[in-house]
Amino acid sequence: DSVLSIRDLRKSFGPIEIMRGVDLDLRPTERHALIGPNGAGKSTLFHLISGNLTPTSGEIIFDGRQVGGESPETLNRLGLARSFQITNIFPKLSVYENIRLAVMRPYRLQYSFWKSVNRLARVREETEKLLEQVRLNSQASTIAGEMAYSEQRSLEIAITLASNPKVILLDEPMAGMSHEEALYTAELIREVTSGRALMIVEHDMDVVFSLSDRISVLVYGQLIATGTPDEIRNNKSVKEAYLGEEVAQ
Ligand code: ADP
Ligand code: MG
Ligand code: MG
Repeated sequence: DSVLSIRDLRKSFGPIEIMRGVDLDLRPTERHALIGPNGAGKSTLFHLISGNLTPTSGEIIFDGRQVGGESPETLNRLGLARSFQITNIFPKLSVYENIRLAVMRPYRLQYSFWKSVNRLARVREETEKLLEQVRLNSQASTIAGEMAYSEQRSLEIAITLASNPKVILLDEPMAGMSHEEALYTAELIREVTSGRALMIVEHDMDVVFSLSDRISVLVYGQLIATGTPDEIRNNKSVKEAYLGEEVAQ
């Protein structure tokens, strides 16, 4: 039972094959970390899944439906959301306005929404719920661009959640944070992804091992292992290829 299935996924840039036959299954409510050395193709895999890159060959099946080559917009409507670094935020708008805009987005083309008498109350309710989920209630009227970096990341998580996605892809959401901030954000991510599927790229192995139900290791465009944190920690080829330096034993 998977919400996302990837089969023999390949991507070449010119003559160079960057994704070299990846198979991966994401279960409906699991937190799945994607780790691997720099340049392994982690971001490329996310771009392929989110529709920001078109595969050279292979299948991506989301919620039982073949989606390879679909646009990011279509995938978002189907229930797949990914974070796009800080640039998703309107830095001159307040936190509340940023979340409100994200809440409104999926409704844009829904005639029934614009006709409904309680639409403003609905938007307010959803906006406030998201504010609370990412613990930014007290910052509602703060200008987004003036918040601390880690708070901007929390806002970005709220924006990602606004479409109520089944699958969330987060590419290095803790990049540039202190270890304490990273642990705080990991806890936040754990809370808000409950009942959804998460794929996360992260380098802090404390975060990876405590947050993940399963971990996949990508090396040079191929998955060399998928398993529970314990299985990955004890996997010989993973140690040799990647974790050797990362995990203090
Ligand atoms: P990671 O996220 O694991 O660090 P990336 O997915 O960013 O790795 O990159 C994987 C490889 O693909 C790298 O060697 C990178 O230089 C290459 N690459 C990524 N995007 C392109 C592109 N648009 N054109 C050519 N090569 C690319
Ligand atoms: Mg990289
Ligand atoms: Mg990357």
